[in-house]
Amino acid sequence: MKKVVKFGGSSLASARQFKKVGDIIRADKSRRYVVPSAPGKRNDKDEKVTDLLYQCYDAASKGGAYKKILEKIKGRYEDIIEGLDLNLNLDHEFGKIEENFVAGAGREYAASRGEYLNGLVMSAYLGIEFIDAAEVIFFDEQGNLDGEFTNQELSERLSHVERAVIPGFYGADHQGRIHTFSRGGSDITGSLVAKAIHADMYENWTDVSGFLVADPRIVKNPEVIETITYKELRELAYMGASVLHEDAIFPVRKEGIPINIRNTNRPEDKGTLIVESTCRKPRYTITGIAGKKGFCSINIEKAMMNSEVGFGRKVLSVFEDYGISFEHMPSGIDTMTIYVHQSEFEEFEQSVIAGIHRAVSPDTVEMESDLALLAVVGRGMRATRGTAARVFSALAHARVNVKMIDQGSSEWNIIIGVKNDDFERAVKAIYDIFVMTEL
Ligand code: ASP
Repeated sequence: MKKVVKFGGSSLASARQFKKVGDIIRADKSRRYVVPSAPGKRNDKDEKVTDLLYQCYDAASKGGAYKKILEKIKGRYEDIIEGLDLNLNLDHEFGKIEENFVAGAGREYAASRGEYLNGLVMSAYLGIEFIDAAEVIFFDEQGNLDGEFTNQELSERLSHVERAVIPGFYGADHQGRIHTFSRGGSDITGSLVAKAIHADMYENWTDVSGFLVADPRIVKNPEVIETITYKELRELAYMGASVLHEDAIFPVRKEGIPINIRNTNRPEDKGTLIVESTCRKPRYTITGIAGKKGFCSINIEKAMMNSEVGFGRKVLSVFEDYGISFEHMPSGIDTMTIYVHQSEFEEFEQSVIAGIHRAVSPDTVEMESDLALLAVVGRGMRATRGTAARVFSALAHARVNVKMIDQGSSEWNIIIGVKNDDFERAVKAIYDIFVMTEL
């Protein structure tokens, strides 16, 4: 059995947290490859080392005052090293980093040092080999991951090592320049390592006990999702439920490697298991609810639209011309409605409307703003009679007016459009009808 374990910033924010991580790794021999993030926040008012590194680099590369910030960063590592009683001195590393900052080595190089240094600390603490991610994770000239080469190099290198620490978040291009993934990207590193070694499990340790059925800012103490499929997760994550970096799914998904989201502060909790497919029955009819505010709808009407071949394409090409992606497109006989992100659309609003007039000569074009979309997702909804009825009667009882309904025939996802102001009430009502009554 081989497991890759990735630990997020809050799991490694202090010596105390490191000790919990050490206990977790030692509790299971199959936890062989460790991917650390940079130290995160120790409390609400604290700063993440990654953020400090960006600040420090911005100052240093512009000839500004940076030493205090660098000292603060150094202090974070020294506290951890001291608290763990390690025989490790990072003075030399910090000297090199300072030199490179002043020489303008780049923001991505700067940010990557958080994980690099934490990797050195982790390797000293666990007494296992350190592998610099710059030697095994590769980016192309445009700064995109070179997935194939990375997989080849990683699997070759790791086939010779029993146990190793590989810092998250960064790699290098073919010239050796450091690149990072987007924020939270250590999740992707963990996924790439899991793929390369054909892991049995990718454990992603964080500070929550898994994915929640609904947003805890809206629903008090929501239930944890025990098992979720990649497809369901993708849908919920897209709609705003975030625990894992979106791009972390793809490398392991193709290999059928499950991801287990776990809580470093509550290792006894089982967390959420993310799988390709499962015959495990979900606990509730729905797996989760998520949603986002800030959409607007453009409603186009034209008599005999239904028989006009190419109508939809012409309308959508206007949006394409302005680089606006559409979210949903419910349609009637002589109407079609397009949902877009308000923030993306506002700037081009009048040009798009004019473009639609030119392209298809509609009878009317009407717009409505301040809309929210919510997704009710669940493999258990498929072929379950009455699911939609329950959703909409719950909304009716909560006095929420439904503006749009979109259910694909795959039946595991219902998208609902409501006014921004009704959003929270709608989420609560749906949670209550499926979870509270099925508990
Ligand atoms: N340390 C990086 C960040 O704060 C990457 C990560 O933690 O995954 O975004």
